[in-house]
Amino acid sequence: MSEKIILTGDRPTGRLHIGHYVGSLRRRVELQNEGDYKKMFVFIADAQALTDNIDNPEKVRQNVIEVALDYLAAGLDPEKVTIFIQSQVPELCELSFYFMDMVTVARLQRNPTVKNEMIQRGYKDSNDGSEDNDDNKRGLPVGFFTYPISQAADITAFKATTVPVGADQKPMLEQASEIVHTFNRIYGETLVDPEIMLPSNSVCMRLPGTDGKAKMSKSLGNCIYLSDSAEEVNAKVKSMFTDPGHLQVSDPGKVEGNTVFTYLDAFCKPEHFDKFASCFVGRKASFEFHSLDEVKDQYRKGGLGDMMIKNFLAAVLNDILEPMRVRRKQYEKNIPAIYEMLKKGCEDARAAAGETLAEVRKAMKINYFDDASLIEEQARRYGQE
Ligand code: ATP
Ligand code: MG
Repeated sequence: MSEKIILTGDRPTGRLHIGHYVGSLRRRVELQNEGDYKKMFVFIADAQALTDNIDNPEKVRQNVIEVALDYLAAGLDPEKVTIFIQSQVPELCELSFYFMDMVTVARLQRNPTVKNEMIQRGYKDSNDGSEDNDDNKRGLPVGFFTYPISQAADITAFKATTVPVGADQKPMLEQASEIVHTFNRIYGETLVDPEIMLPSNSVCMRLPGTDGKAKMSKSLGNCIYLSDSAEEVNAKVKSMFTDPGHLQVSDPGKVEGNTVFTYLDAFCKPEHFDKFASCFVGRKASFEFHSLDEVKDQYRKGGLGDMMIKNFLAAVLNDILEPMRVRRKQYEKNIPAIYEMLKKGCEDARAAAGETLAEVRKAMKINYFDDASLIEEQARRYGQE
């Protein structure tokens, strides 16, 4: 059996969206079904979500079950994958605490994802001296600033080898890898160096929001959720920006930077052209397409209206989301069973993290009561045989 241990998580700050799906969730389901792994862990990062939502515990509490439902809807199978809640594995806090000594403040300040997210969330940069006089900004919580460290603990506590995530997580994985090297150098080979697994399709690494902003993100409100109804998807797609220069249907259109095409790049499959051929039949003009390249060529030439493309995109998205909606409805019928599944997952995860922590404590020489030779040695020092 493969020695691969796969681990990923999501913050329970909202329902999961199509960015999560192409960035990580789709890959997780594929990996699960290929079965080429020793263990697979997926966790709901509630403690991490609290780092920037400390005054809104209800939001986090409510979204734990939403994320769990989205996992099951997307096809994760608790028989094959351990699904757990981060806060219920206190070993992760313990490991973070030890890791804190292995990372400098300067190194954390260089983390580009943290930098971006600080700006997004309106946190003051404690370095720019604005802490006391800029009333428009909030103070930066230490826990948010140091979340890359706790993320390194989440990954290494399970000896994860493989972490399938979106591109925003690259700096986190680099940080985790550095911590592993530092730890192993000081305390001996104990932890496993994790490898990032990015989506193979580059548009999926960081799917933009429906507003065209750089990243679809729960915290930015620019999402198409996996649990959105077909009507909601249609309305959201209809309101999307395309190419601002494409005013008349006959005008040549731009595909690059056009979010509708970005989404088609991420979701459209060859069979969709046959299945949704009717989207390209209009009163004034009709087209027959067999590939996305053909659609793009026509759009660039002009004559293909935004409405047609949007109808096609909505049909493609709904085709992918519909089986998830059906599965979600099924799981929503028995919520206590989902908490039961999560509880079992937390117990299994705790057992696995506990094994690593025992090794960590031993390596760090803080396993005082499990080490008979230590007690003997100290007794001898004080003349007791
Ligand atoms: P928040 O705004 O609360 O940070 P989020 O939408 O960024 O939420 P996370 O829970 O932080 O979602 O991310 C979970 C996983 O989904 C990570 O692996 C991340 O890389 C991936 N991911 C999130 N947003 C996108 C996106 N727009 N495109 C591709 N992958 C994404
Ligand atoms: Mg995020």
